[in-house]
Amino acid sequence: MGRAHGGREHRGRRAHGDRAHRDRAHRDPVQRGEAVRAVLIDIDGVLTVSWEPLPGAVAAMERLRATGLPFALVTNTTSRTRAAIADRLAGAGFSVTADDILTAPAVTAAYLRAHHPRARCLLLNAGDIRGDLDGVQLVDDHPEQHAAAAEPEAGVVVIGGAGDAFDYAALNRVFRQLQCGASLVAMHRNLYWRTAGGLDLDTGAFLLGLEKAARVEAAITGKPAEAFFRAALSHVGAAPAEALMVGDDIESDVLAAQRAGITGVLVRTGKYLPETHRAASGDPDHVVDSFADLPDLLERLGTSTA
Ligand SMILES: [Mg+2]
Repeated sequence: MGRAHGGREHRGRRAHGDRAHRDRAHRDPVQRGEAVRAVLIDIDGVLTVSWEPLPGAVAAMERLRATGLPFALVTNTTSRTRAAIADRLAGAGFSVTADDILTAPAVTAAYLRAHHPRARCLLLNAGDIRGDLDGVQLVDDHPEQHAAAAEPEAGVVVIGGAGDAFDYAALNRVFRQLQCGASLVAMHRNLYWRTAGGLDLDTGAFLLGLEKAARVEAAITGKPAEAFFRAALSHVGAAPAEALMVGDDIESDVLAAQRAGITGVLVRTGKYLPETHRAASGDPDHVVDSFADLPDLLERLGTSTA
C-alpha cells in the first residue's frame, strides 16, 4: 500500500482485515478515546547520536517530564551500565537517572534470574556491564584456561554486544559450552551498528555461526523481543494500549513494539532511511520528524497522569 510522507506526522495503519490489525484498531488510544499514560523512548538515534543531543531533544524531554507522564529510556546498548548511560546523557544535557533507563543487559539479568536461577553463566560481551547483572553468577574470566577443555563449566552462555572480546578463543570456548548442553541467551541479533568510522560487525553475525554450528537457537532478551517490551511496560506501570514507543529503528523499536500492543512512533533521525521505511514489514502508527515533535504528538493524542 502507498504511504503519504508529506506531513510532519502521519498515521500509517495498514488496511489489512486480519485479526492482529483489528485488535490494534480496537486498542488505538485515539479511536477508543484513551489517553497515553506512559512513554518508552529509544536513546541512540532518538535523543542522541554519538552521545551528542539531537536538535530540540533536550527541550522535548523537559516538556515530557513536565507532563508528569512516566517514561523509560529503553536501549539495546550492551557496552555500558545504566549508571554510565545516565552519566553520558547528563553530560549531553538530559536530566535523567539510571532508574529512568532499561538496558538489554538489565533485562537479560531479570530473564536469567527467572528462567535460569542459580545457573553459572558464561558471558561474552564487549564492555563492563557487571553492575547491571545483579543476581547472575558469572563463570570466571580466564578463557585461556578453558578454551581447550571440552567440559561443562556453564549452564548458560550469554552473548552481549560484539567487539574485541569476540576473538577465536572466546568464541570457541562458547561453542564448546554449547556442545556440552549449555543454553544460549543473546541480548540481540543485530548484524551491524553505525560508528563514526562506518558500519561495524555486531553480535548477530557471530550468533548465526554459533547457532548453526552448535544446532541451537538463542533466546533473545533485548529489542525486538516482546519480553523486553513487557519488562519496559512493567517498569513504567502501564498496559500496552496505554503506552507509546518512540524509536529510530522501524523494525526493532517501532513494529516490534506494535506487535506487543504498544502504539509505535517512528522518528526520522538516527538510523532512519526512507528506503528502510518503504521496505519495512509494516507501518508505524505515527511518524514524526524528530523527538522534538513528541510533546505536540502527545497533546494531540491526549495524555493522562491519573
Ligand atoms: Mg536507536
